[in-house]
Amino acid sequence: MPTIQNIFAREILDGRGQPTVECSIWLDNGVYAISSAPSGTSVGKYEALDLHDQDQRMLGMGVTKAVNNINTVIAPALKGKDPTDQEGIDAALVALDGTEKRTKLGGNAMIAVSQVVMKAAALAGGVPLYYYIWQKYQLASSLFIPTCIYTMINGGSHGATNLDFQEFQIVPASHLDFIQSLEMATLLFQKLEEVLIAKGAIHSVGLDGGYAPNLYNNTDAFEILIETIKNSPYTYIQDLFFGVDVAASEFFNAGKYSLKDKSQPYSPRDLIEYYKNMRKLYHVFAIEDPFQEDDWQSWKDITLELGETSTIIGDNLLVGNKTRTQKAIQEKACNAILIKPNQVGTISETIEVIKMAQAAQWQIVVSHRSGETNDDFIADFAVGVNANYVKFGPPNRGERISKYNRLLQVYADLLTYQQQPAQPAATEAAQPVQE
Ligand code: PEP
Ligand code: MG
Repeated sequence: MPTIQNIFAREILDGRGQPTVECSIWLDNGVYAISSAPSGTSVGKYEALDLHDQDQRMLGMGVTKAVNNINTVIAPALKGKDPTDQEGIDAALVALDGTEKRTKLGGNAMIAVSQVVMKAAALAGGVPLYYYIWQKYQLASSLFIPTCIYTMINGGSHGATNLDFQEFQIVPASHLDFIQSLEMATLLFQKLEEVLIAKGAIHSVGLDGGYAPNLYNNTDAFEILIETIKNSPYTYIQDLFFGVDVAASEFFNAGKYSLKDKSQPYSPRDLIEYYKNMRKLYHVFAIEDPFQEDDWQSWKDITLELGETSTIIGDNLLVGNKTRTQKAIQEKACNAILIKPNQVGTISETIEVIKMAQAAQWQIVVSHRSGETNDDFIADFAVGVNANYVKFGPPNRGERISKYNRLLQVYADLLTYQQQPAQPAATEAAQPVQE
């Protein structure tokens, strides 16, 4: 049995130019792996804390304290341990930290270590990471590539314009396999640029690489996307639908929601009517974070009123937290969970939450963060846990493309070894809804 010989961390930069934690591991049989921590911008109130130095250097965003925690606290504690004992290692991390929000070691230190241990264990076993995860946790009988939710337009705290919603996405219909869907997303992303240029809208990109155009309101974004699709060989509703990450916490204030298209803020009831209209007019079937994370009643209302025909995804509502997920299942506050392992802090705890959500027959959406490196861990993780969907941003910028390129490699593996289409068994949620 190989054991951990050393773990060593350093500060690197993510795709936003922000410092983050990268971690290397050596096993005593010569195996070597690297992984890094992603990090968010529209960070949930209840998620694990990224430890930043908060000093004069790099606007306080340095991560040398988190790095130091790995090198001086975590590494000595994990030396000699079995890397395949992910649960034991993650339990040790949780115990060493000892806080609810991972404020002592830092969620960024913990997730970098948890991920790199898993990578090393897969390498030691001589199997691809997705396969290792799939075998270890046995969350489904066959492997497939999850349906990709592609962000096209960024607004909110990811954009720089007056769009309130953070992400306007396209969701491929289930008759397209992964390669076909990636080709569609790539073509539409380029066509979108042409449409934006023709309209004289600014077409710089936002934090995760989606266009951040100068539009008047959220409705304009859907209209622009419809125009883009018309300029392509694809057919709206037949080949693709729309999704949004509203990230509503970003425009919530004193029980109300301020959208820039109206001078008065929206009450939760007004906002539900807004979403219902959006669902009907634009076939937006996936809605992430429609309400702020403590506005439970509104979450329950929207799930009751739209949940039959739409995927209501909890991101900041749940932050991959077991207690909050349990509550949301009991109270029927949503029907899908966004999984970002760094919101939790360890891979084992993330797997526990995925199991809970799967048992409740929720859809699983494995997601990147707005701050990403070229580490493609999350792509293998999504395949290994049999996620229904992934959200890795647009087909643009290196740190997003690395995930899609990894899915292309896995797709080829699955075709070769499984000899069956690398396509979800059923993606009913991606089918058009009779209206
Ligand atoms: C999100 O809100 O889903 C997201 C990916 O953004 P961030 O990483 O900034 O939280
Ligand atoms: Mg979100």
